[in-house]
Amino acid sequence: MSASTVPDPAHGGGLGSRLNWLRAAVLGANDGIVSTAGLVVGVAGATESQAALLTAGLSGLLAGSLSMAAGEYVSVSVQRDSEDAALATEKRELRESPAAELDELTALLTARGLSPAVAREAAEQLTARDALRAHARVELGIDPDDLTNPWHAAWASFLAFTAGALLPLLAIVLPPASVRLWITVASVLAALTLTGWWAARLAAAPAPRATLRTVAGGALAMAVTYAAGSLLDVAGV
Ligand SMILES: [Zn+2]
Repeated sequence: MSASTVPDPAHGGGLGSRLNWLRAAVLGANDGIVSTAGLVVGVAGATESQAALLTAGLSGLLAGSLSMAAGEYVSVSVQRDSEDAALATEKRELRESPAAELDELTALLTARGLSPAVAREAAEQLTARDALRAHARVELGIDPDDLTNPWHAAWASFLAFTAGALLPLLAIVLPPASVRLWITVASVLAALTLTGWWAARLAAAPAPRATLRTVAGGALAMAVTYAAGSLLDVAGV
């Protein structure tokens, strides 16, 4: 989530990073729906037991949400560590060689299209106001007041996956045995239509194609696990 993913720097990081978060949440929910649906539909192919369905669905929900959260925590921590290290280096350079750093900032602003005289004036003003922040933004492309937080990222993935996983879990466990498979398949495909469409809109991508891909992916996952579960049942496992 660096500045490069923000569509329009002139409007600040706020809107861009909010959209990124929202998109990550929708995709996380999507993951929860597809993987848990595949799991419970597969078990439903093999057994009628409601206890087995509940166990499979709940285990899938917990395993998936915890693994997503842990993965997100690790990856965002690595990014955060490198941001912290870059800021520490910058701070030291500003302390040890302020003149060279002023030249550097001037050169960066010149490269962005300011005339040398204006760039110099701008660099001096930015340095007087908050040198570290100016270097962080212009040189490193990060905002020291808005660094990525690994715990926020981990919680967001956990909640998004859980929200998605709850749908197939409840759909397979709550209805009567005779209709639970069809209710699960129908509600999963309906939910994937929504998340696929929404994710595409947030990414400003053509919605119909992305929605179709999302729904097809979920349908394929359920068909494959149901076939596998039924084979195990037929084989008498
Ligand atoms: Zn610098």
